[in-house]
Amino acid sequence: MYRVDLADKVGLVMGVANERSIAWAVARILDQAGAGLALVYQNDRVKPYVEGLAAQLRRAEVQACDVTEDGQIAALFARLKEKWGRLDFLVHSIAFAPATELGGEFLATSRAGFREALDVSAYSLIPLARGAAELMQGRGGAMVALTFQASERVFPGYNVMGTAKAALEHIVRQLAYELGPHGVRVCGLSSGPVRTLAARGIPGFPEMLKSHEERAPLKRNITHDEVAKAVVFLVSDLASGITGEILHVDAGYHIMGV
Ligand code: NAD
Repeated sequence: MYRVDLADKVGLVMGVANERSIAWAVARILDQAGAGLALVYQNDRVKPYVEGLAAQLRRAEVQACDVTEDGQIAALFARLKEKWGRLDFLVHSIAFAPATELGGEFLATSRAGFREALDVSAYSLIPLARGAAELMQGRGGAMVALTFQASERVFPGYNVMGTAKAALEHIVRQLAYELGPHGVRVCGLSSGPVRTLAARGIPGFPEMLKSHEERAPLKRNITHDEVAKAVVFLVSDLASGITGEILHVDAGYHIMGV
């Protein structure tokens, strides 16, 4: 049991697909801290799983939202306004690129694949932050987006998702600047590799796990819960002086040169 007290907070956790999703680990620890949650899922395909998971939590409900649809984003925030009338935090744990864009040559990236990857994985944070900030007005709040070190370095095969993560991290900084005067903090959390549905689609993922274990200062991979604990830290008042930051939770892998 972790001892951060979020009993007076309510927030959105976006990107739960199944029990391996990073967003699910985040939701479990936020729940332990007492927060009220809306778990947001993409579509009917994942709805039954997410409903089953939400039922295990104390104060959680589920909401649908495909982030490529402006109407669905507007409807989500309208429902939250009616239900809570406020929001304390938003966790963005969403990414997608067509399988054809992962692995193979980055030179072969298609316009359509680029658009889709950047739309879902990076742009989506902007309208979501807009909707969330409106509900945070006058009270402040915190937003955290999940990212990966392929934004800064080359991870062969990660291709256009690296471009999307670079864009996402820039969006984090730009939003931190604009929302800071309203007391809203915006950060990124750069996670080391963990086994999830999205990770399964990345060619060379097992090698990535192996290389992190061998080269990271802690000589191991990180767990879902370690990522989740750091997200909870960032949305809590313990991180009240931090914004625009990209926090690496990767057993230290990112500091290594060779
Ligand atoms: P996951 O597959 O469990 O989560 C990805 C989520 O994105 C799913 O819930 C999916 O439904 C959602 N999603 C995709 N398209 C969507 C859309 N149009 N509208 C709404 N939701 C949509 O995998 P995960 O690894 O937990 O990924 C969560 C986040 O963590 C992603 O941003 C990912 O890039 C990031 N991340 C993962 C790793 C890793 O090794 N697993 C490492 C670093 C960062």
